[in-house]
Amino acid sequence: MFDLAKYTKELSEILDSSDNILIISHINPDGDAIGSQLALYHYLTSKGKKVGMMCPNSLQEFLNWMNGSDKINIFIRKRKKCICLIEGADLILMMDFNQPNRLGEAESYVTGSAAVKVIIDHHLEPHNFAKLSISDPSRCSTSEIVHEMVTIMNGGPFLNKSYSEDIYVGIITDTGNFEHGSYTGRTLRIIADLLESGIDKDQLLNIIYNNFSADRMKLLGLALNQRMTVLSEYRTAYIHLTKKDLADFNHVKGDTEGFVNLPLSIKGINFSVLFIEKDNFVKLSFRSKGKFPVNEFASKYFAGGGHRNASGGEYYDTLENTIKYFLKVLEENVDRLKNVF
Ligand code: 5GP
Ligand code: MN
Repeated sequence: MFDLAKYTKELSEILDSSDNILIISHINPDGDAIGSQLALYHYLTSKGKKVGMMCPNSLQEFLNWMNGSDKINIFIRKRKKCICLIEGADLILMMDFNQPNRLGEAESYVTGSAAVKVIIDHHLEPHNFAKLSISDPSRCSTSEIVHEMVTIMNGGPFLNKSYSEDIYVGIITDTGNFEHGSYTGRTLRIIADLLESGIDKDQLLNIIYNNFSADRMKLLGLALNQRMTVLSEYRTAYIHLTKKDLADFNHVKGDTEGFVNLPLSIKGINFSVLFIEKDNFVKLSFRSKGKFPVNEFASKYFAGGGHRNASGGEYYDTLENTIKYFLKVLEENVDRLKNVF
């Protein structure tokens, strides 16, 4: 049983004895990674703490408007500064991930640092690379865990507009605006408090969800019309996109976000996969319904991981060979795919 009060006490003690804190979010950060990172940043700086922030690679446009996001140092852009931050930190807080490879090119610097390391996360099967792992996979988001801990540490609600926006963004992005994920009554009570704290929800939803280019819509059209294969007998549908497809529609980071969810709305389809061709590998995204654990599928066959119903991985081969390999391993899972509920 996850004992939030106990973990909050332990974290609080570690924070009290730390002078130089570095908060790190994961590679290809999503709204929950940045939301939880910025929320903790806003809280700790309000208490007079010295806090730096780092992310392995750049934020997408739908997140880089957030207050404080310009203070997140991007490792691949500012290597020297980031290495200094890592080496100077006496406490490193790692947000929304539990595997060291999610640190990208910063991995060896962070794992090799002498700082006390704390993981705050909600993914399954945490790797052991931190002194303290605050991990609850039953929560919809890392932001929800952060919010509950901050509320305890603060001795009541921390009233700060940027902080409220951070937690709100983290929760709505990890639940697809309450379409999926493990949100609970508790989550909705947190949201109720945030809305009453005066955040402009319509503006936030507009920035997050109505921020696509026309090219992105056209790429989605191509993906569904010409690049989707439905394997009804396997209860599976997959979409593949080539490098040329992406180039033809002036792809920018984040454009394919959400594509993988769509085939799951086909009746009888329980497993959806998106293959994206990269320079020397293929990036895969997996989504499932019910009991089919795509995190196990990703880790067993595609060196990846994630949540039970949303995961990702990669495969170092051509797109064609990756799909061939996928179809082979799919065969081994067909029985489980027929009984997900
Ligand atoms: P997405 O398909 O949206 O990129 O990722 C869905 C989830 O899968 C993310 O929340 C993330 O935790 C996980 N994930 C995606 N790609 C990888 C990967 O390459 N390795 C691991 N371990 N997890 C991944
Ligand atoms: Mn998350």
